[in-house]
Amino acid sequence: MRRTARTTSAALTLTGALVVGGTATAGAVGEGPDYQGNEVITTSILSTYDEVVDFLHAQDAKQDAMELEVIGQTVKGRDIHLVKYVSDPENPTILYLAQQHGNEQLTTEAMLHVIKTLGSGQHARMLDDVNILFVPMFNADGAMGDVNFSIDHYLAKGERHLTRYNANEVDLNRDHVAKLEPETQALHENVLGAYDIDYMIDLHHQGTQSRVDGKLVSGSILYPTTPDVDPAVLEGSKRLGAVVYENVDSTGWGHLGKYVGGTANTIARNGVAAEYGISTLLFEMRGMSDHEWAGAILGQKSNGYLIRQTVVTLMSTAQAVADGSIETADTSFWDTLPEQG
Ligand SMILES: [Zn+2]
Repeated sequence: MRRTARTTSAALTLTGALVVGGTATAGAVGEGPDYQGNEVITTSILSTYDEVVDFLHAQDAKQDAMELEVIGQTVKGRDIHLVKYVSDPENPTILYLAQQHGNEQLTTEAMLHVIKTLGSGQHARMLDDVNILFVPMFNADGAMGDVNFSIDHYLAKGERHLTRYNANEVDLNRDHVAKLEPETQALHENVLGAYDIDYMIDLHHQGTQSRVDGKLVSGSILYPTTPDVDPAVLEGSKRLGAVVYENVDSTGWGHLGKYVGGTANTIARNGVAAEYGISTLLFEMRGMSDHEWAGAILGQKSNGYLIRQTVVTLMSTAQAVADGSIETADTSFWDTLPEQG
């Protein structure tokens, strides 16, 4: 159910709010180092699955508004967690999904930061007007490198490798029609089919080399491109993208392009929009956490702005849904947003 706008401003300022690992946000996006074989990429700074679960339990114990639910198990038996802020079933609802691809973890780190922030009390009013669902580490087996195929040749250093695929070497973001994997089944049965969700942002990381206007992008966005999407749902996706673009691209360090994506419903951005009428948005952050190809991964000096970019994305869209300003977001930028190349 949608409600009419109550207030108009969705602009969100997070200036100074985020310090990651003791390092302030990097200033110049696109200038961040990428891996060229001469920079150490380590996965040791990334939260492990157990650390994520411990964090969620600790926040659950502290936060009255938060509920923690297990929606199913991965191939290897890890619990998949859903974090819920549902103050009123009549509220509009937004879902944030992170780490369908296990080697794309900064989105998860940002999500944990946002969950902690929501417990601070300063966003209590927002939480009265929007229901927020988070799946912080969807592909936990891939994130932990606990898989039934070899990833020993992946390039990152550290205690573990991270891989795109689940333990069965399936790309979960190509399983949203057949739903053969336990992770996908859990998401569809216990989240997508169980809640009245209006919006969803599917959070990913892409390679390091995409450019717009000659400058490396900090990320890219795209609405559903399946022919099966309802026009009103598509319009909602474009408005969701408008909120993200307005808040991220205006920061000075954010530089967004239009993602070039396919039309298959096996992809969540398309399939979830078509099947459930949810206005979906894909957000691809620059640079993966681990990969077998050097061009895909990014030095950790860039982590600050990439995490911050995700935090801005999550907080600004939750706020825009809560105050209703998303209903009037200007989607005309999509007509001129260049595809990244
Ligand atoms: Zn991905």
